[in-house]
Amino acid sequence: MVSIAQSAISNLKEAGLGDVLYTRGQQTYEAQEESYWSLTPRQRPWGIVQPRNTEEVSKIVKALVRTAGCKFAVRSGGHMVHAGAGNDIEDGVTIDLGLMKGTTYHPETGFASIQPGARWKDVYTDVEKHGVMVAGGREGMVGVGGFLTGGGLTFYNCRYGWGCDQVVNYEVVLGDGSVVEANSTTNSDLFRVLKGGNNNFGIVTRFDMQTFKASNIWDGSSVISPAYTDQVIEAYVDFSTNLVKNGDSHVLTMFTFIPFVQEHIINILFTSLDGVENPQTTRKFLEIPGQQNVKTTTIANKIAGFILPSGKYDFWMTITFKFDHRIIRRTVDAYETLLGQLKEAITDNSFGVNMVLQPLLASWTQHSLDRGSNMLGLERITEDCVIVVVGVEVATSELSDKVSEPATRAMFSEVESYAKSLDKDVGFLYLNYCDGSQNPLGNYGEENVKKMKEASAKYDPIGVFQERVPGGYKISMMK
Ligand SMILES: Cc1cc2nc3c(=O)[nH]c(=O)nc-3n(C[C@H](O)[C@H](O)[C@H](O)COP(=O)(O)OP(=O)(O)OC[C@H]3O[C@@H](n4cnc5c(N)ncnc54)[C@H](O)[C@@H]3O)c2cc1C
Repeated sequence: MVSIAQSAISNLKEAGLGDVLYTRGQQTYEAQEESYWSLTPRQRPWGIVQPRNTEEVSKIVKALVRTAGCKFAVRSGGHMVHAGAGNDIEDGVTIDLGLMKGTTYHPETGFASIQPGARWKDVYTDVEKHGVMVAGGREGMVGVGGFLTGGGLTFYNCRYGWGCDQVVNYEVVLGDGSVVEANSTTNSDLFRVLKGGNNNFGIVTRFDMQTFKASNIWDGSSVISPAYTDQVIEAYVDFSTNLVKNGDSHVLTMFTFIPFVQEHIINILFTSLDGVENPQTTRKFLEIPGQQNVKTTTIANKIAGFILPSGKYDFWMTITFKFDHRIIRRTVDAYETLLGQLKEAITDNSFGVNMVLQPLLASWTQHSLDRGSNMLGLERITEDCVIVVVGVEVATSELSDKVSEPATRAMFSEVESYAKSLDKDVGFLYLNYCDGSQNPLGNYGEENVKKMKEASAKYDPIGVFQERVPGGYKISMMK
């Protein structure tokens, strides 16, 4: 009897995709599996198929849907870190959009057409040549497709809202293989749900993004000893409080434990987007003694060299709470407890941890509303917030399951309880930072869940992206 795997492979070949279809043991197959940022989401699909254009994506979807019982995954950059994220699959086929990585700038409209498999470092290089920039990821190898369908924390959130708010048009391959455009006037319901709706509606094959004038940035880092934790918290509070008045400043406050280093460090990554040196907003950070490294550069140059090491088993979780000095303090304390537990359990210090504090300002929502809104449901949040993400990397899946995962969960449970006790938990979970057990769609609000369900029923009536694409956060699982 012919298996589902055999039927899928033969249907893909019949559809003319044989030359971009790879199976276990083939060099391209193994190289693509190796190229996920983390070891955690990697699976062993029956086949990996790499379409070169939208027409081929359409043919692939038709061929796989025609194969009874065949499931598939959709990968762009492959940076989402949990197994089951939907960027790879064990029993099924992975559609890897890695060959669709072009960026075209249209001076007449000021839009950039970006294919989903592009990495942000290449996108920035391509658009900067034309003197323009887009609001994308802050690490070079992050993919466009997952980043923009999940939301998008960018250097420019204060100026322009979320990355997805900068998308003016999507080209999408639906579950029946048809290709549609979605923008504010055509398929506007689909346009809106794609902003934060993950892989629930179709495969985005082109994002048309708004560009804006590129400029030099004043950019750098300060590596600070944890002995100055109190001053860092104070500087973070000061920075976040003043940010609304100076949206041209961007800071990532990172508490970091580098593998094999005995002590953790605090790494402040600051960027002055208009090139102004030593702006008032970041001054408090810079007053703290630290090893500073600052220069005038551009986003493309910065991001070309900003690529985080990969190849470990990662576990990420996130929480968002209302801006409150006490909860920030408690979060840092809980991080230090987590660090202690990891050191005790992994005595060779071969693990890494990153905790990043980032502001989420209430004012960003107006930018989203001005551009047709998104699915994140942040209209209900009227106070400034803090997004916390913690990522723990270890050498084996066993250590991840037995040590990093339970310890990180315990940390988040403590922070969440404390934030709730002060009535400061806002119930927003940024999808692109979530673990598989978290429920970001459920936190978008009833109204948005309803809109996503309606769009799913309208654009994917047979539920291809619910049943056949089981990975990711599924709208059909929402009550
Ligand atoms: C080192 C690192 C740095 C990061 N920096 C940032 C940052 O600065 N800001 C930020 O907001 N996030 C950041 N993230 C998180 C990042 O946004 C997510 O991991 C995001 O999903 C990555 O996009 P990708 O294309 O690589 O996704 P993938 O892993 O390829 O896919 C993620 C999800 O999106 C779906 N998907 C992918 N492409 C498509 C498509 N074309 N159509 C429909 N669905 C699709 C997949 O099925 C999957 O469910 C970072 C992650 C890492 C590991």
